[in-house]
Amino acid sequence: MAAALALFLLFAAAAAILLLHLVVAARAFRNQRHGGAGRSRYRVPETSYTPSRAGLSPADLRFLPCFAASASASASPELCAVCLEAACAGERWRALPACGHAFHAACVDRWLARAAACPVCRASVSASAS
Ligand SMILES: [Zn+2]
Ligand SMILES: [Zn+2]
Repeated sequence: MAAALALFLLFAAAAAILLLHLVVAARAFRNQRHGGAGRSRYRVPETSYTPSRAGLSPADLRFLPCFAASASASASPELCAVCLEAACAGERWRALPACGHAFHAACVDRWLARAAACPVCRASVSASAS
């Protein structure tokens, strides 16, 4: 009786592992087919603006220059193109190194998390300075 039970448990465990493998394999296959087809059939030039490219990670964003807006200084940006609100003294702003456009740090961080490009001129933004 105990042997039969053990055999049954063994069989159940094997079936569960097999099922798990099938699910994982199916998912991997689907991902591979999706990515592979997109890359081989529709070749996107690497130099052009590619919004499909993943945005920057929070770690990358920390490398971008950041400054505090001041109401009086002429150097401070007047309008954030993301939320269309004027700069207020003390706010944290971020200037993109590629083009010099500046936005609220909070606004542009949210944007860059989706697309690594300037919201205004689409200059590509890369965290690694080059
Ligand atoms: Zn803003
Ligand atoms: Zn720009």
